[in-house]
Amino acid sequence: MACYIDLDGVLVRLHLEALRHYGVKLDEFPGQRRTMDIVNAETGSKYEDHYLFWSTFDESFWAFLPPFEWAHKLVIFAGNTFGHGDVYVATRPTHNPKSRSGKQLWCDRYLPGWLSSNVIMIKDKFRLATGKHDLLIDDSPENCRQFAQRGQSILIGRPWNGRPTQTFEKLKEEIHDACDKMVDLD
Ligand SMILES: [Mg+2]
Repeated sequence: MACYIDLDGVLVRLHLEALRHYGVKLDEFPGQRRTMDIVNAETGSKYEDHYLFWSTFDESFWAFLPPFEWAHKLVIFAGNTFGHGDVYVATRPTHNPKSRSGKQLWCDRYLPGWLSSNVIMIKDKFRLATGKHDLLIDDSPENCRQFAQRGQSILIGRPWNGRPTQTFEKLKEEIHDACDKMVDLD
């Protein structure tokens, strides 16, 4: 039984800060669009590869991003529900190796020690799923769909994925529902 929590878009407020980095200042993310496409449209950049675009950000960018409002509460709740040893951060590094150190620095800064020492940098998160007793919390519909083929997943609603952001109370209910399914299957 393990709980994997995504960083970018779940704990880390990445997308608006990435736009700001390119001089695009918005209060809210404009719907179901990719950050790269918005940067191209607003700045005349011509990025074509999603992962190469994200590789343009350096270590300090990743290290100093702000957390989402209920990031800390989610981490504490997951630790209490699953046990500290069974909660992991699962995040995909970019092609830029500095993203790995930057993301780890962010975890060291914002997360309790029991979690900042449980960080998995991985491209294909679905490979972590071993059964219905494994849960992924992620803002990517594709990551959630793939993980749920073996495990369970909860999609964090964000403007870019089209699901309204759930309240923290609703998210706790969704985590409890996932735990109930784990027990039923044992
Ligand atoms: Mg994400």
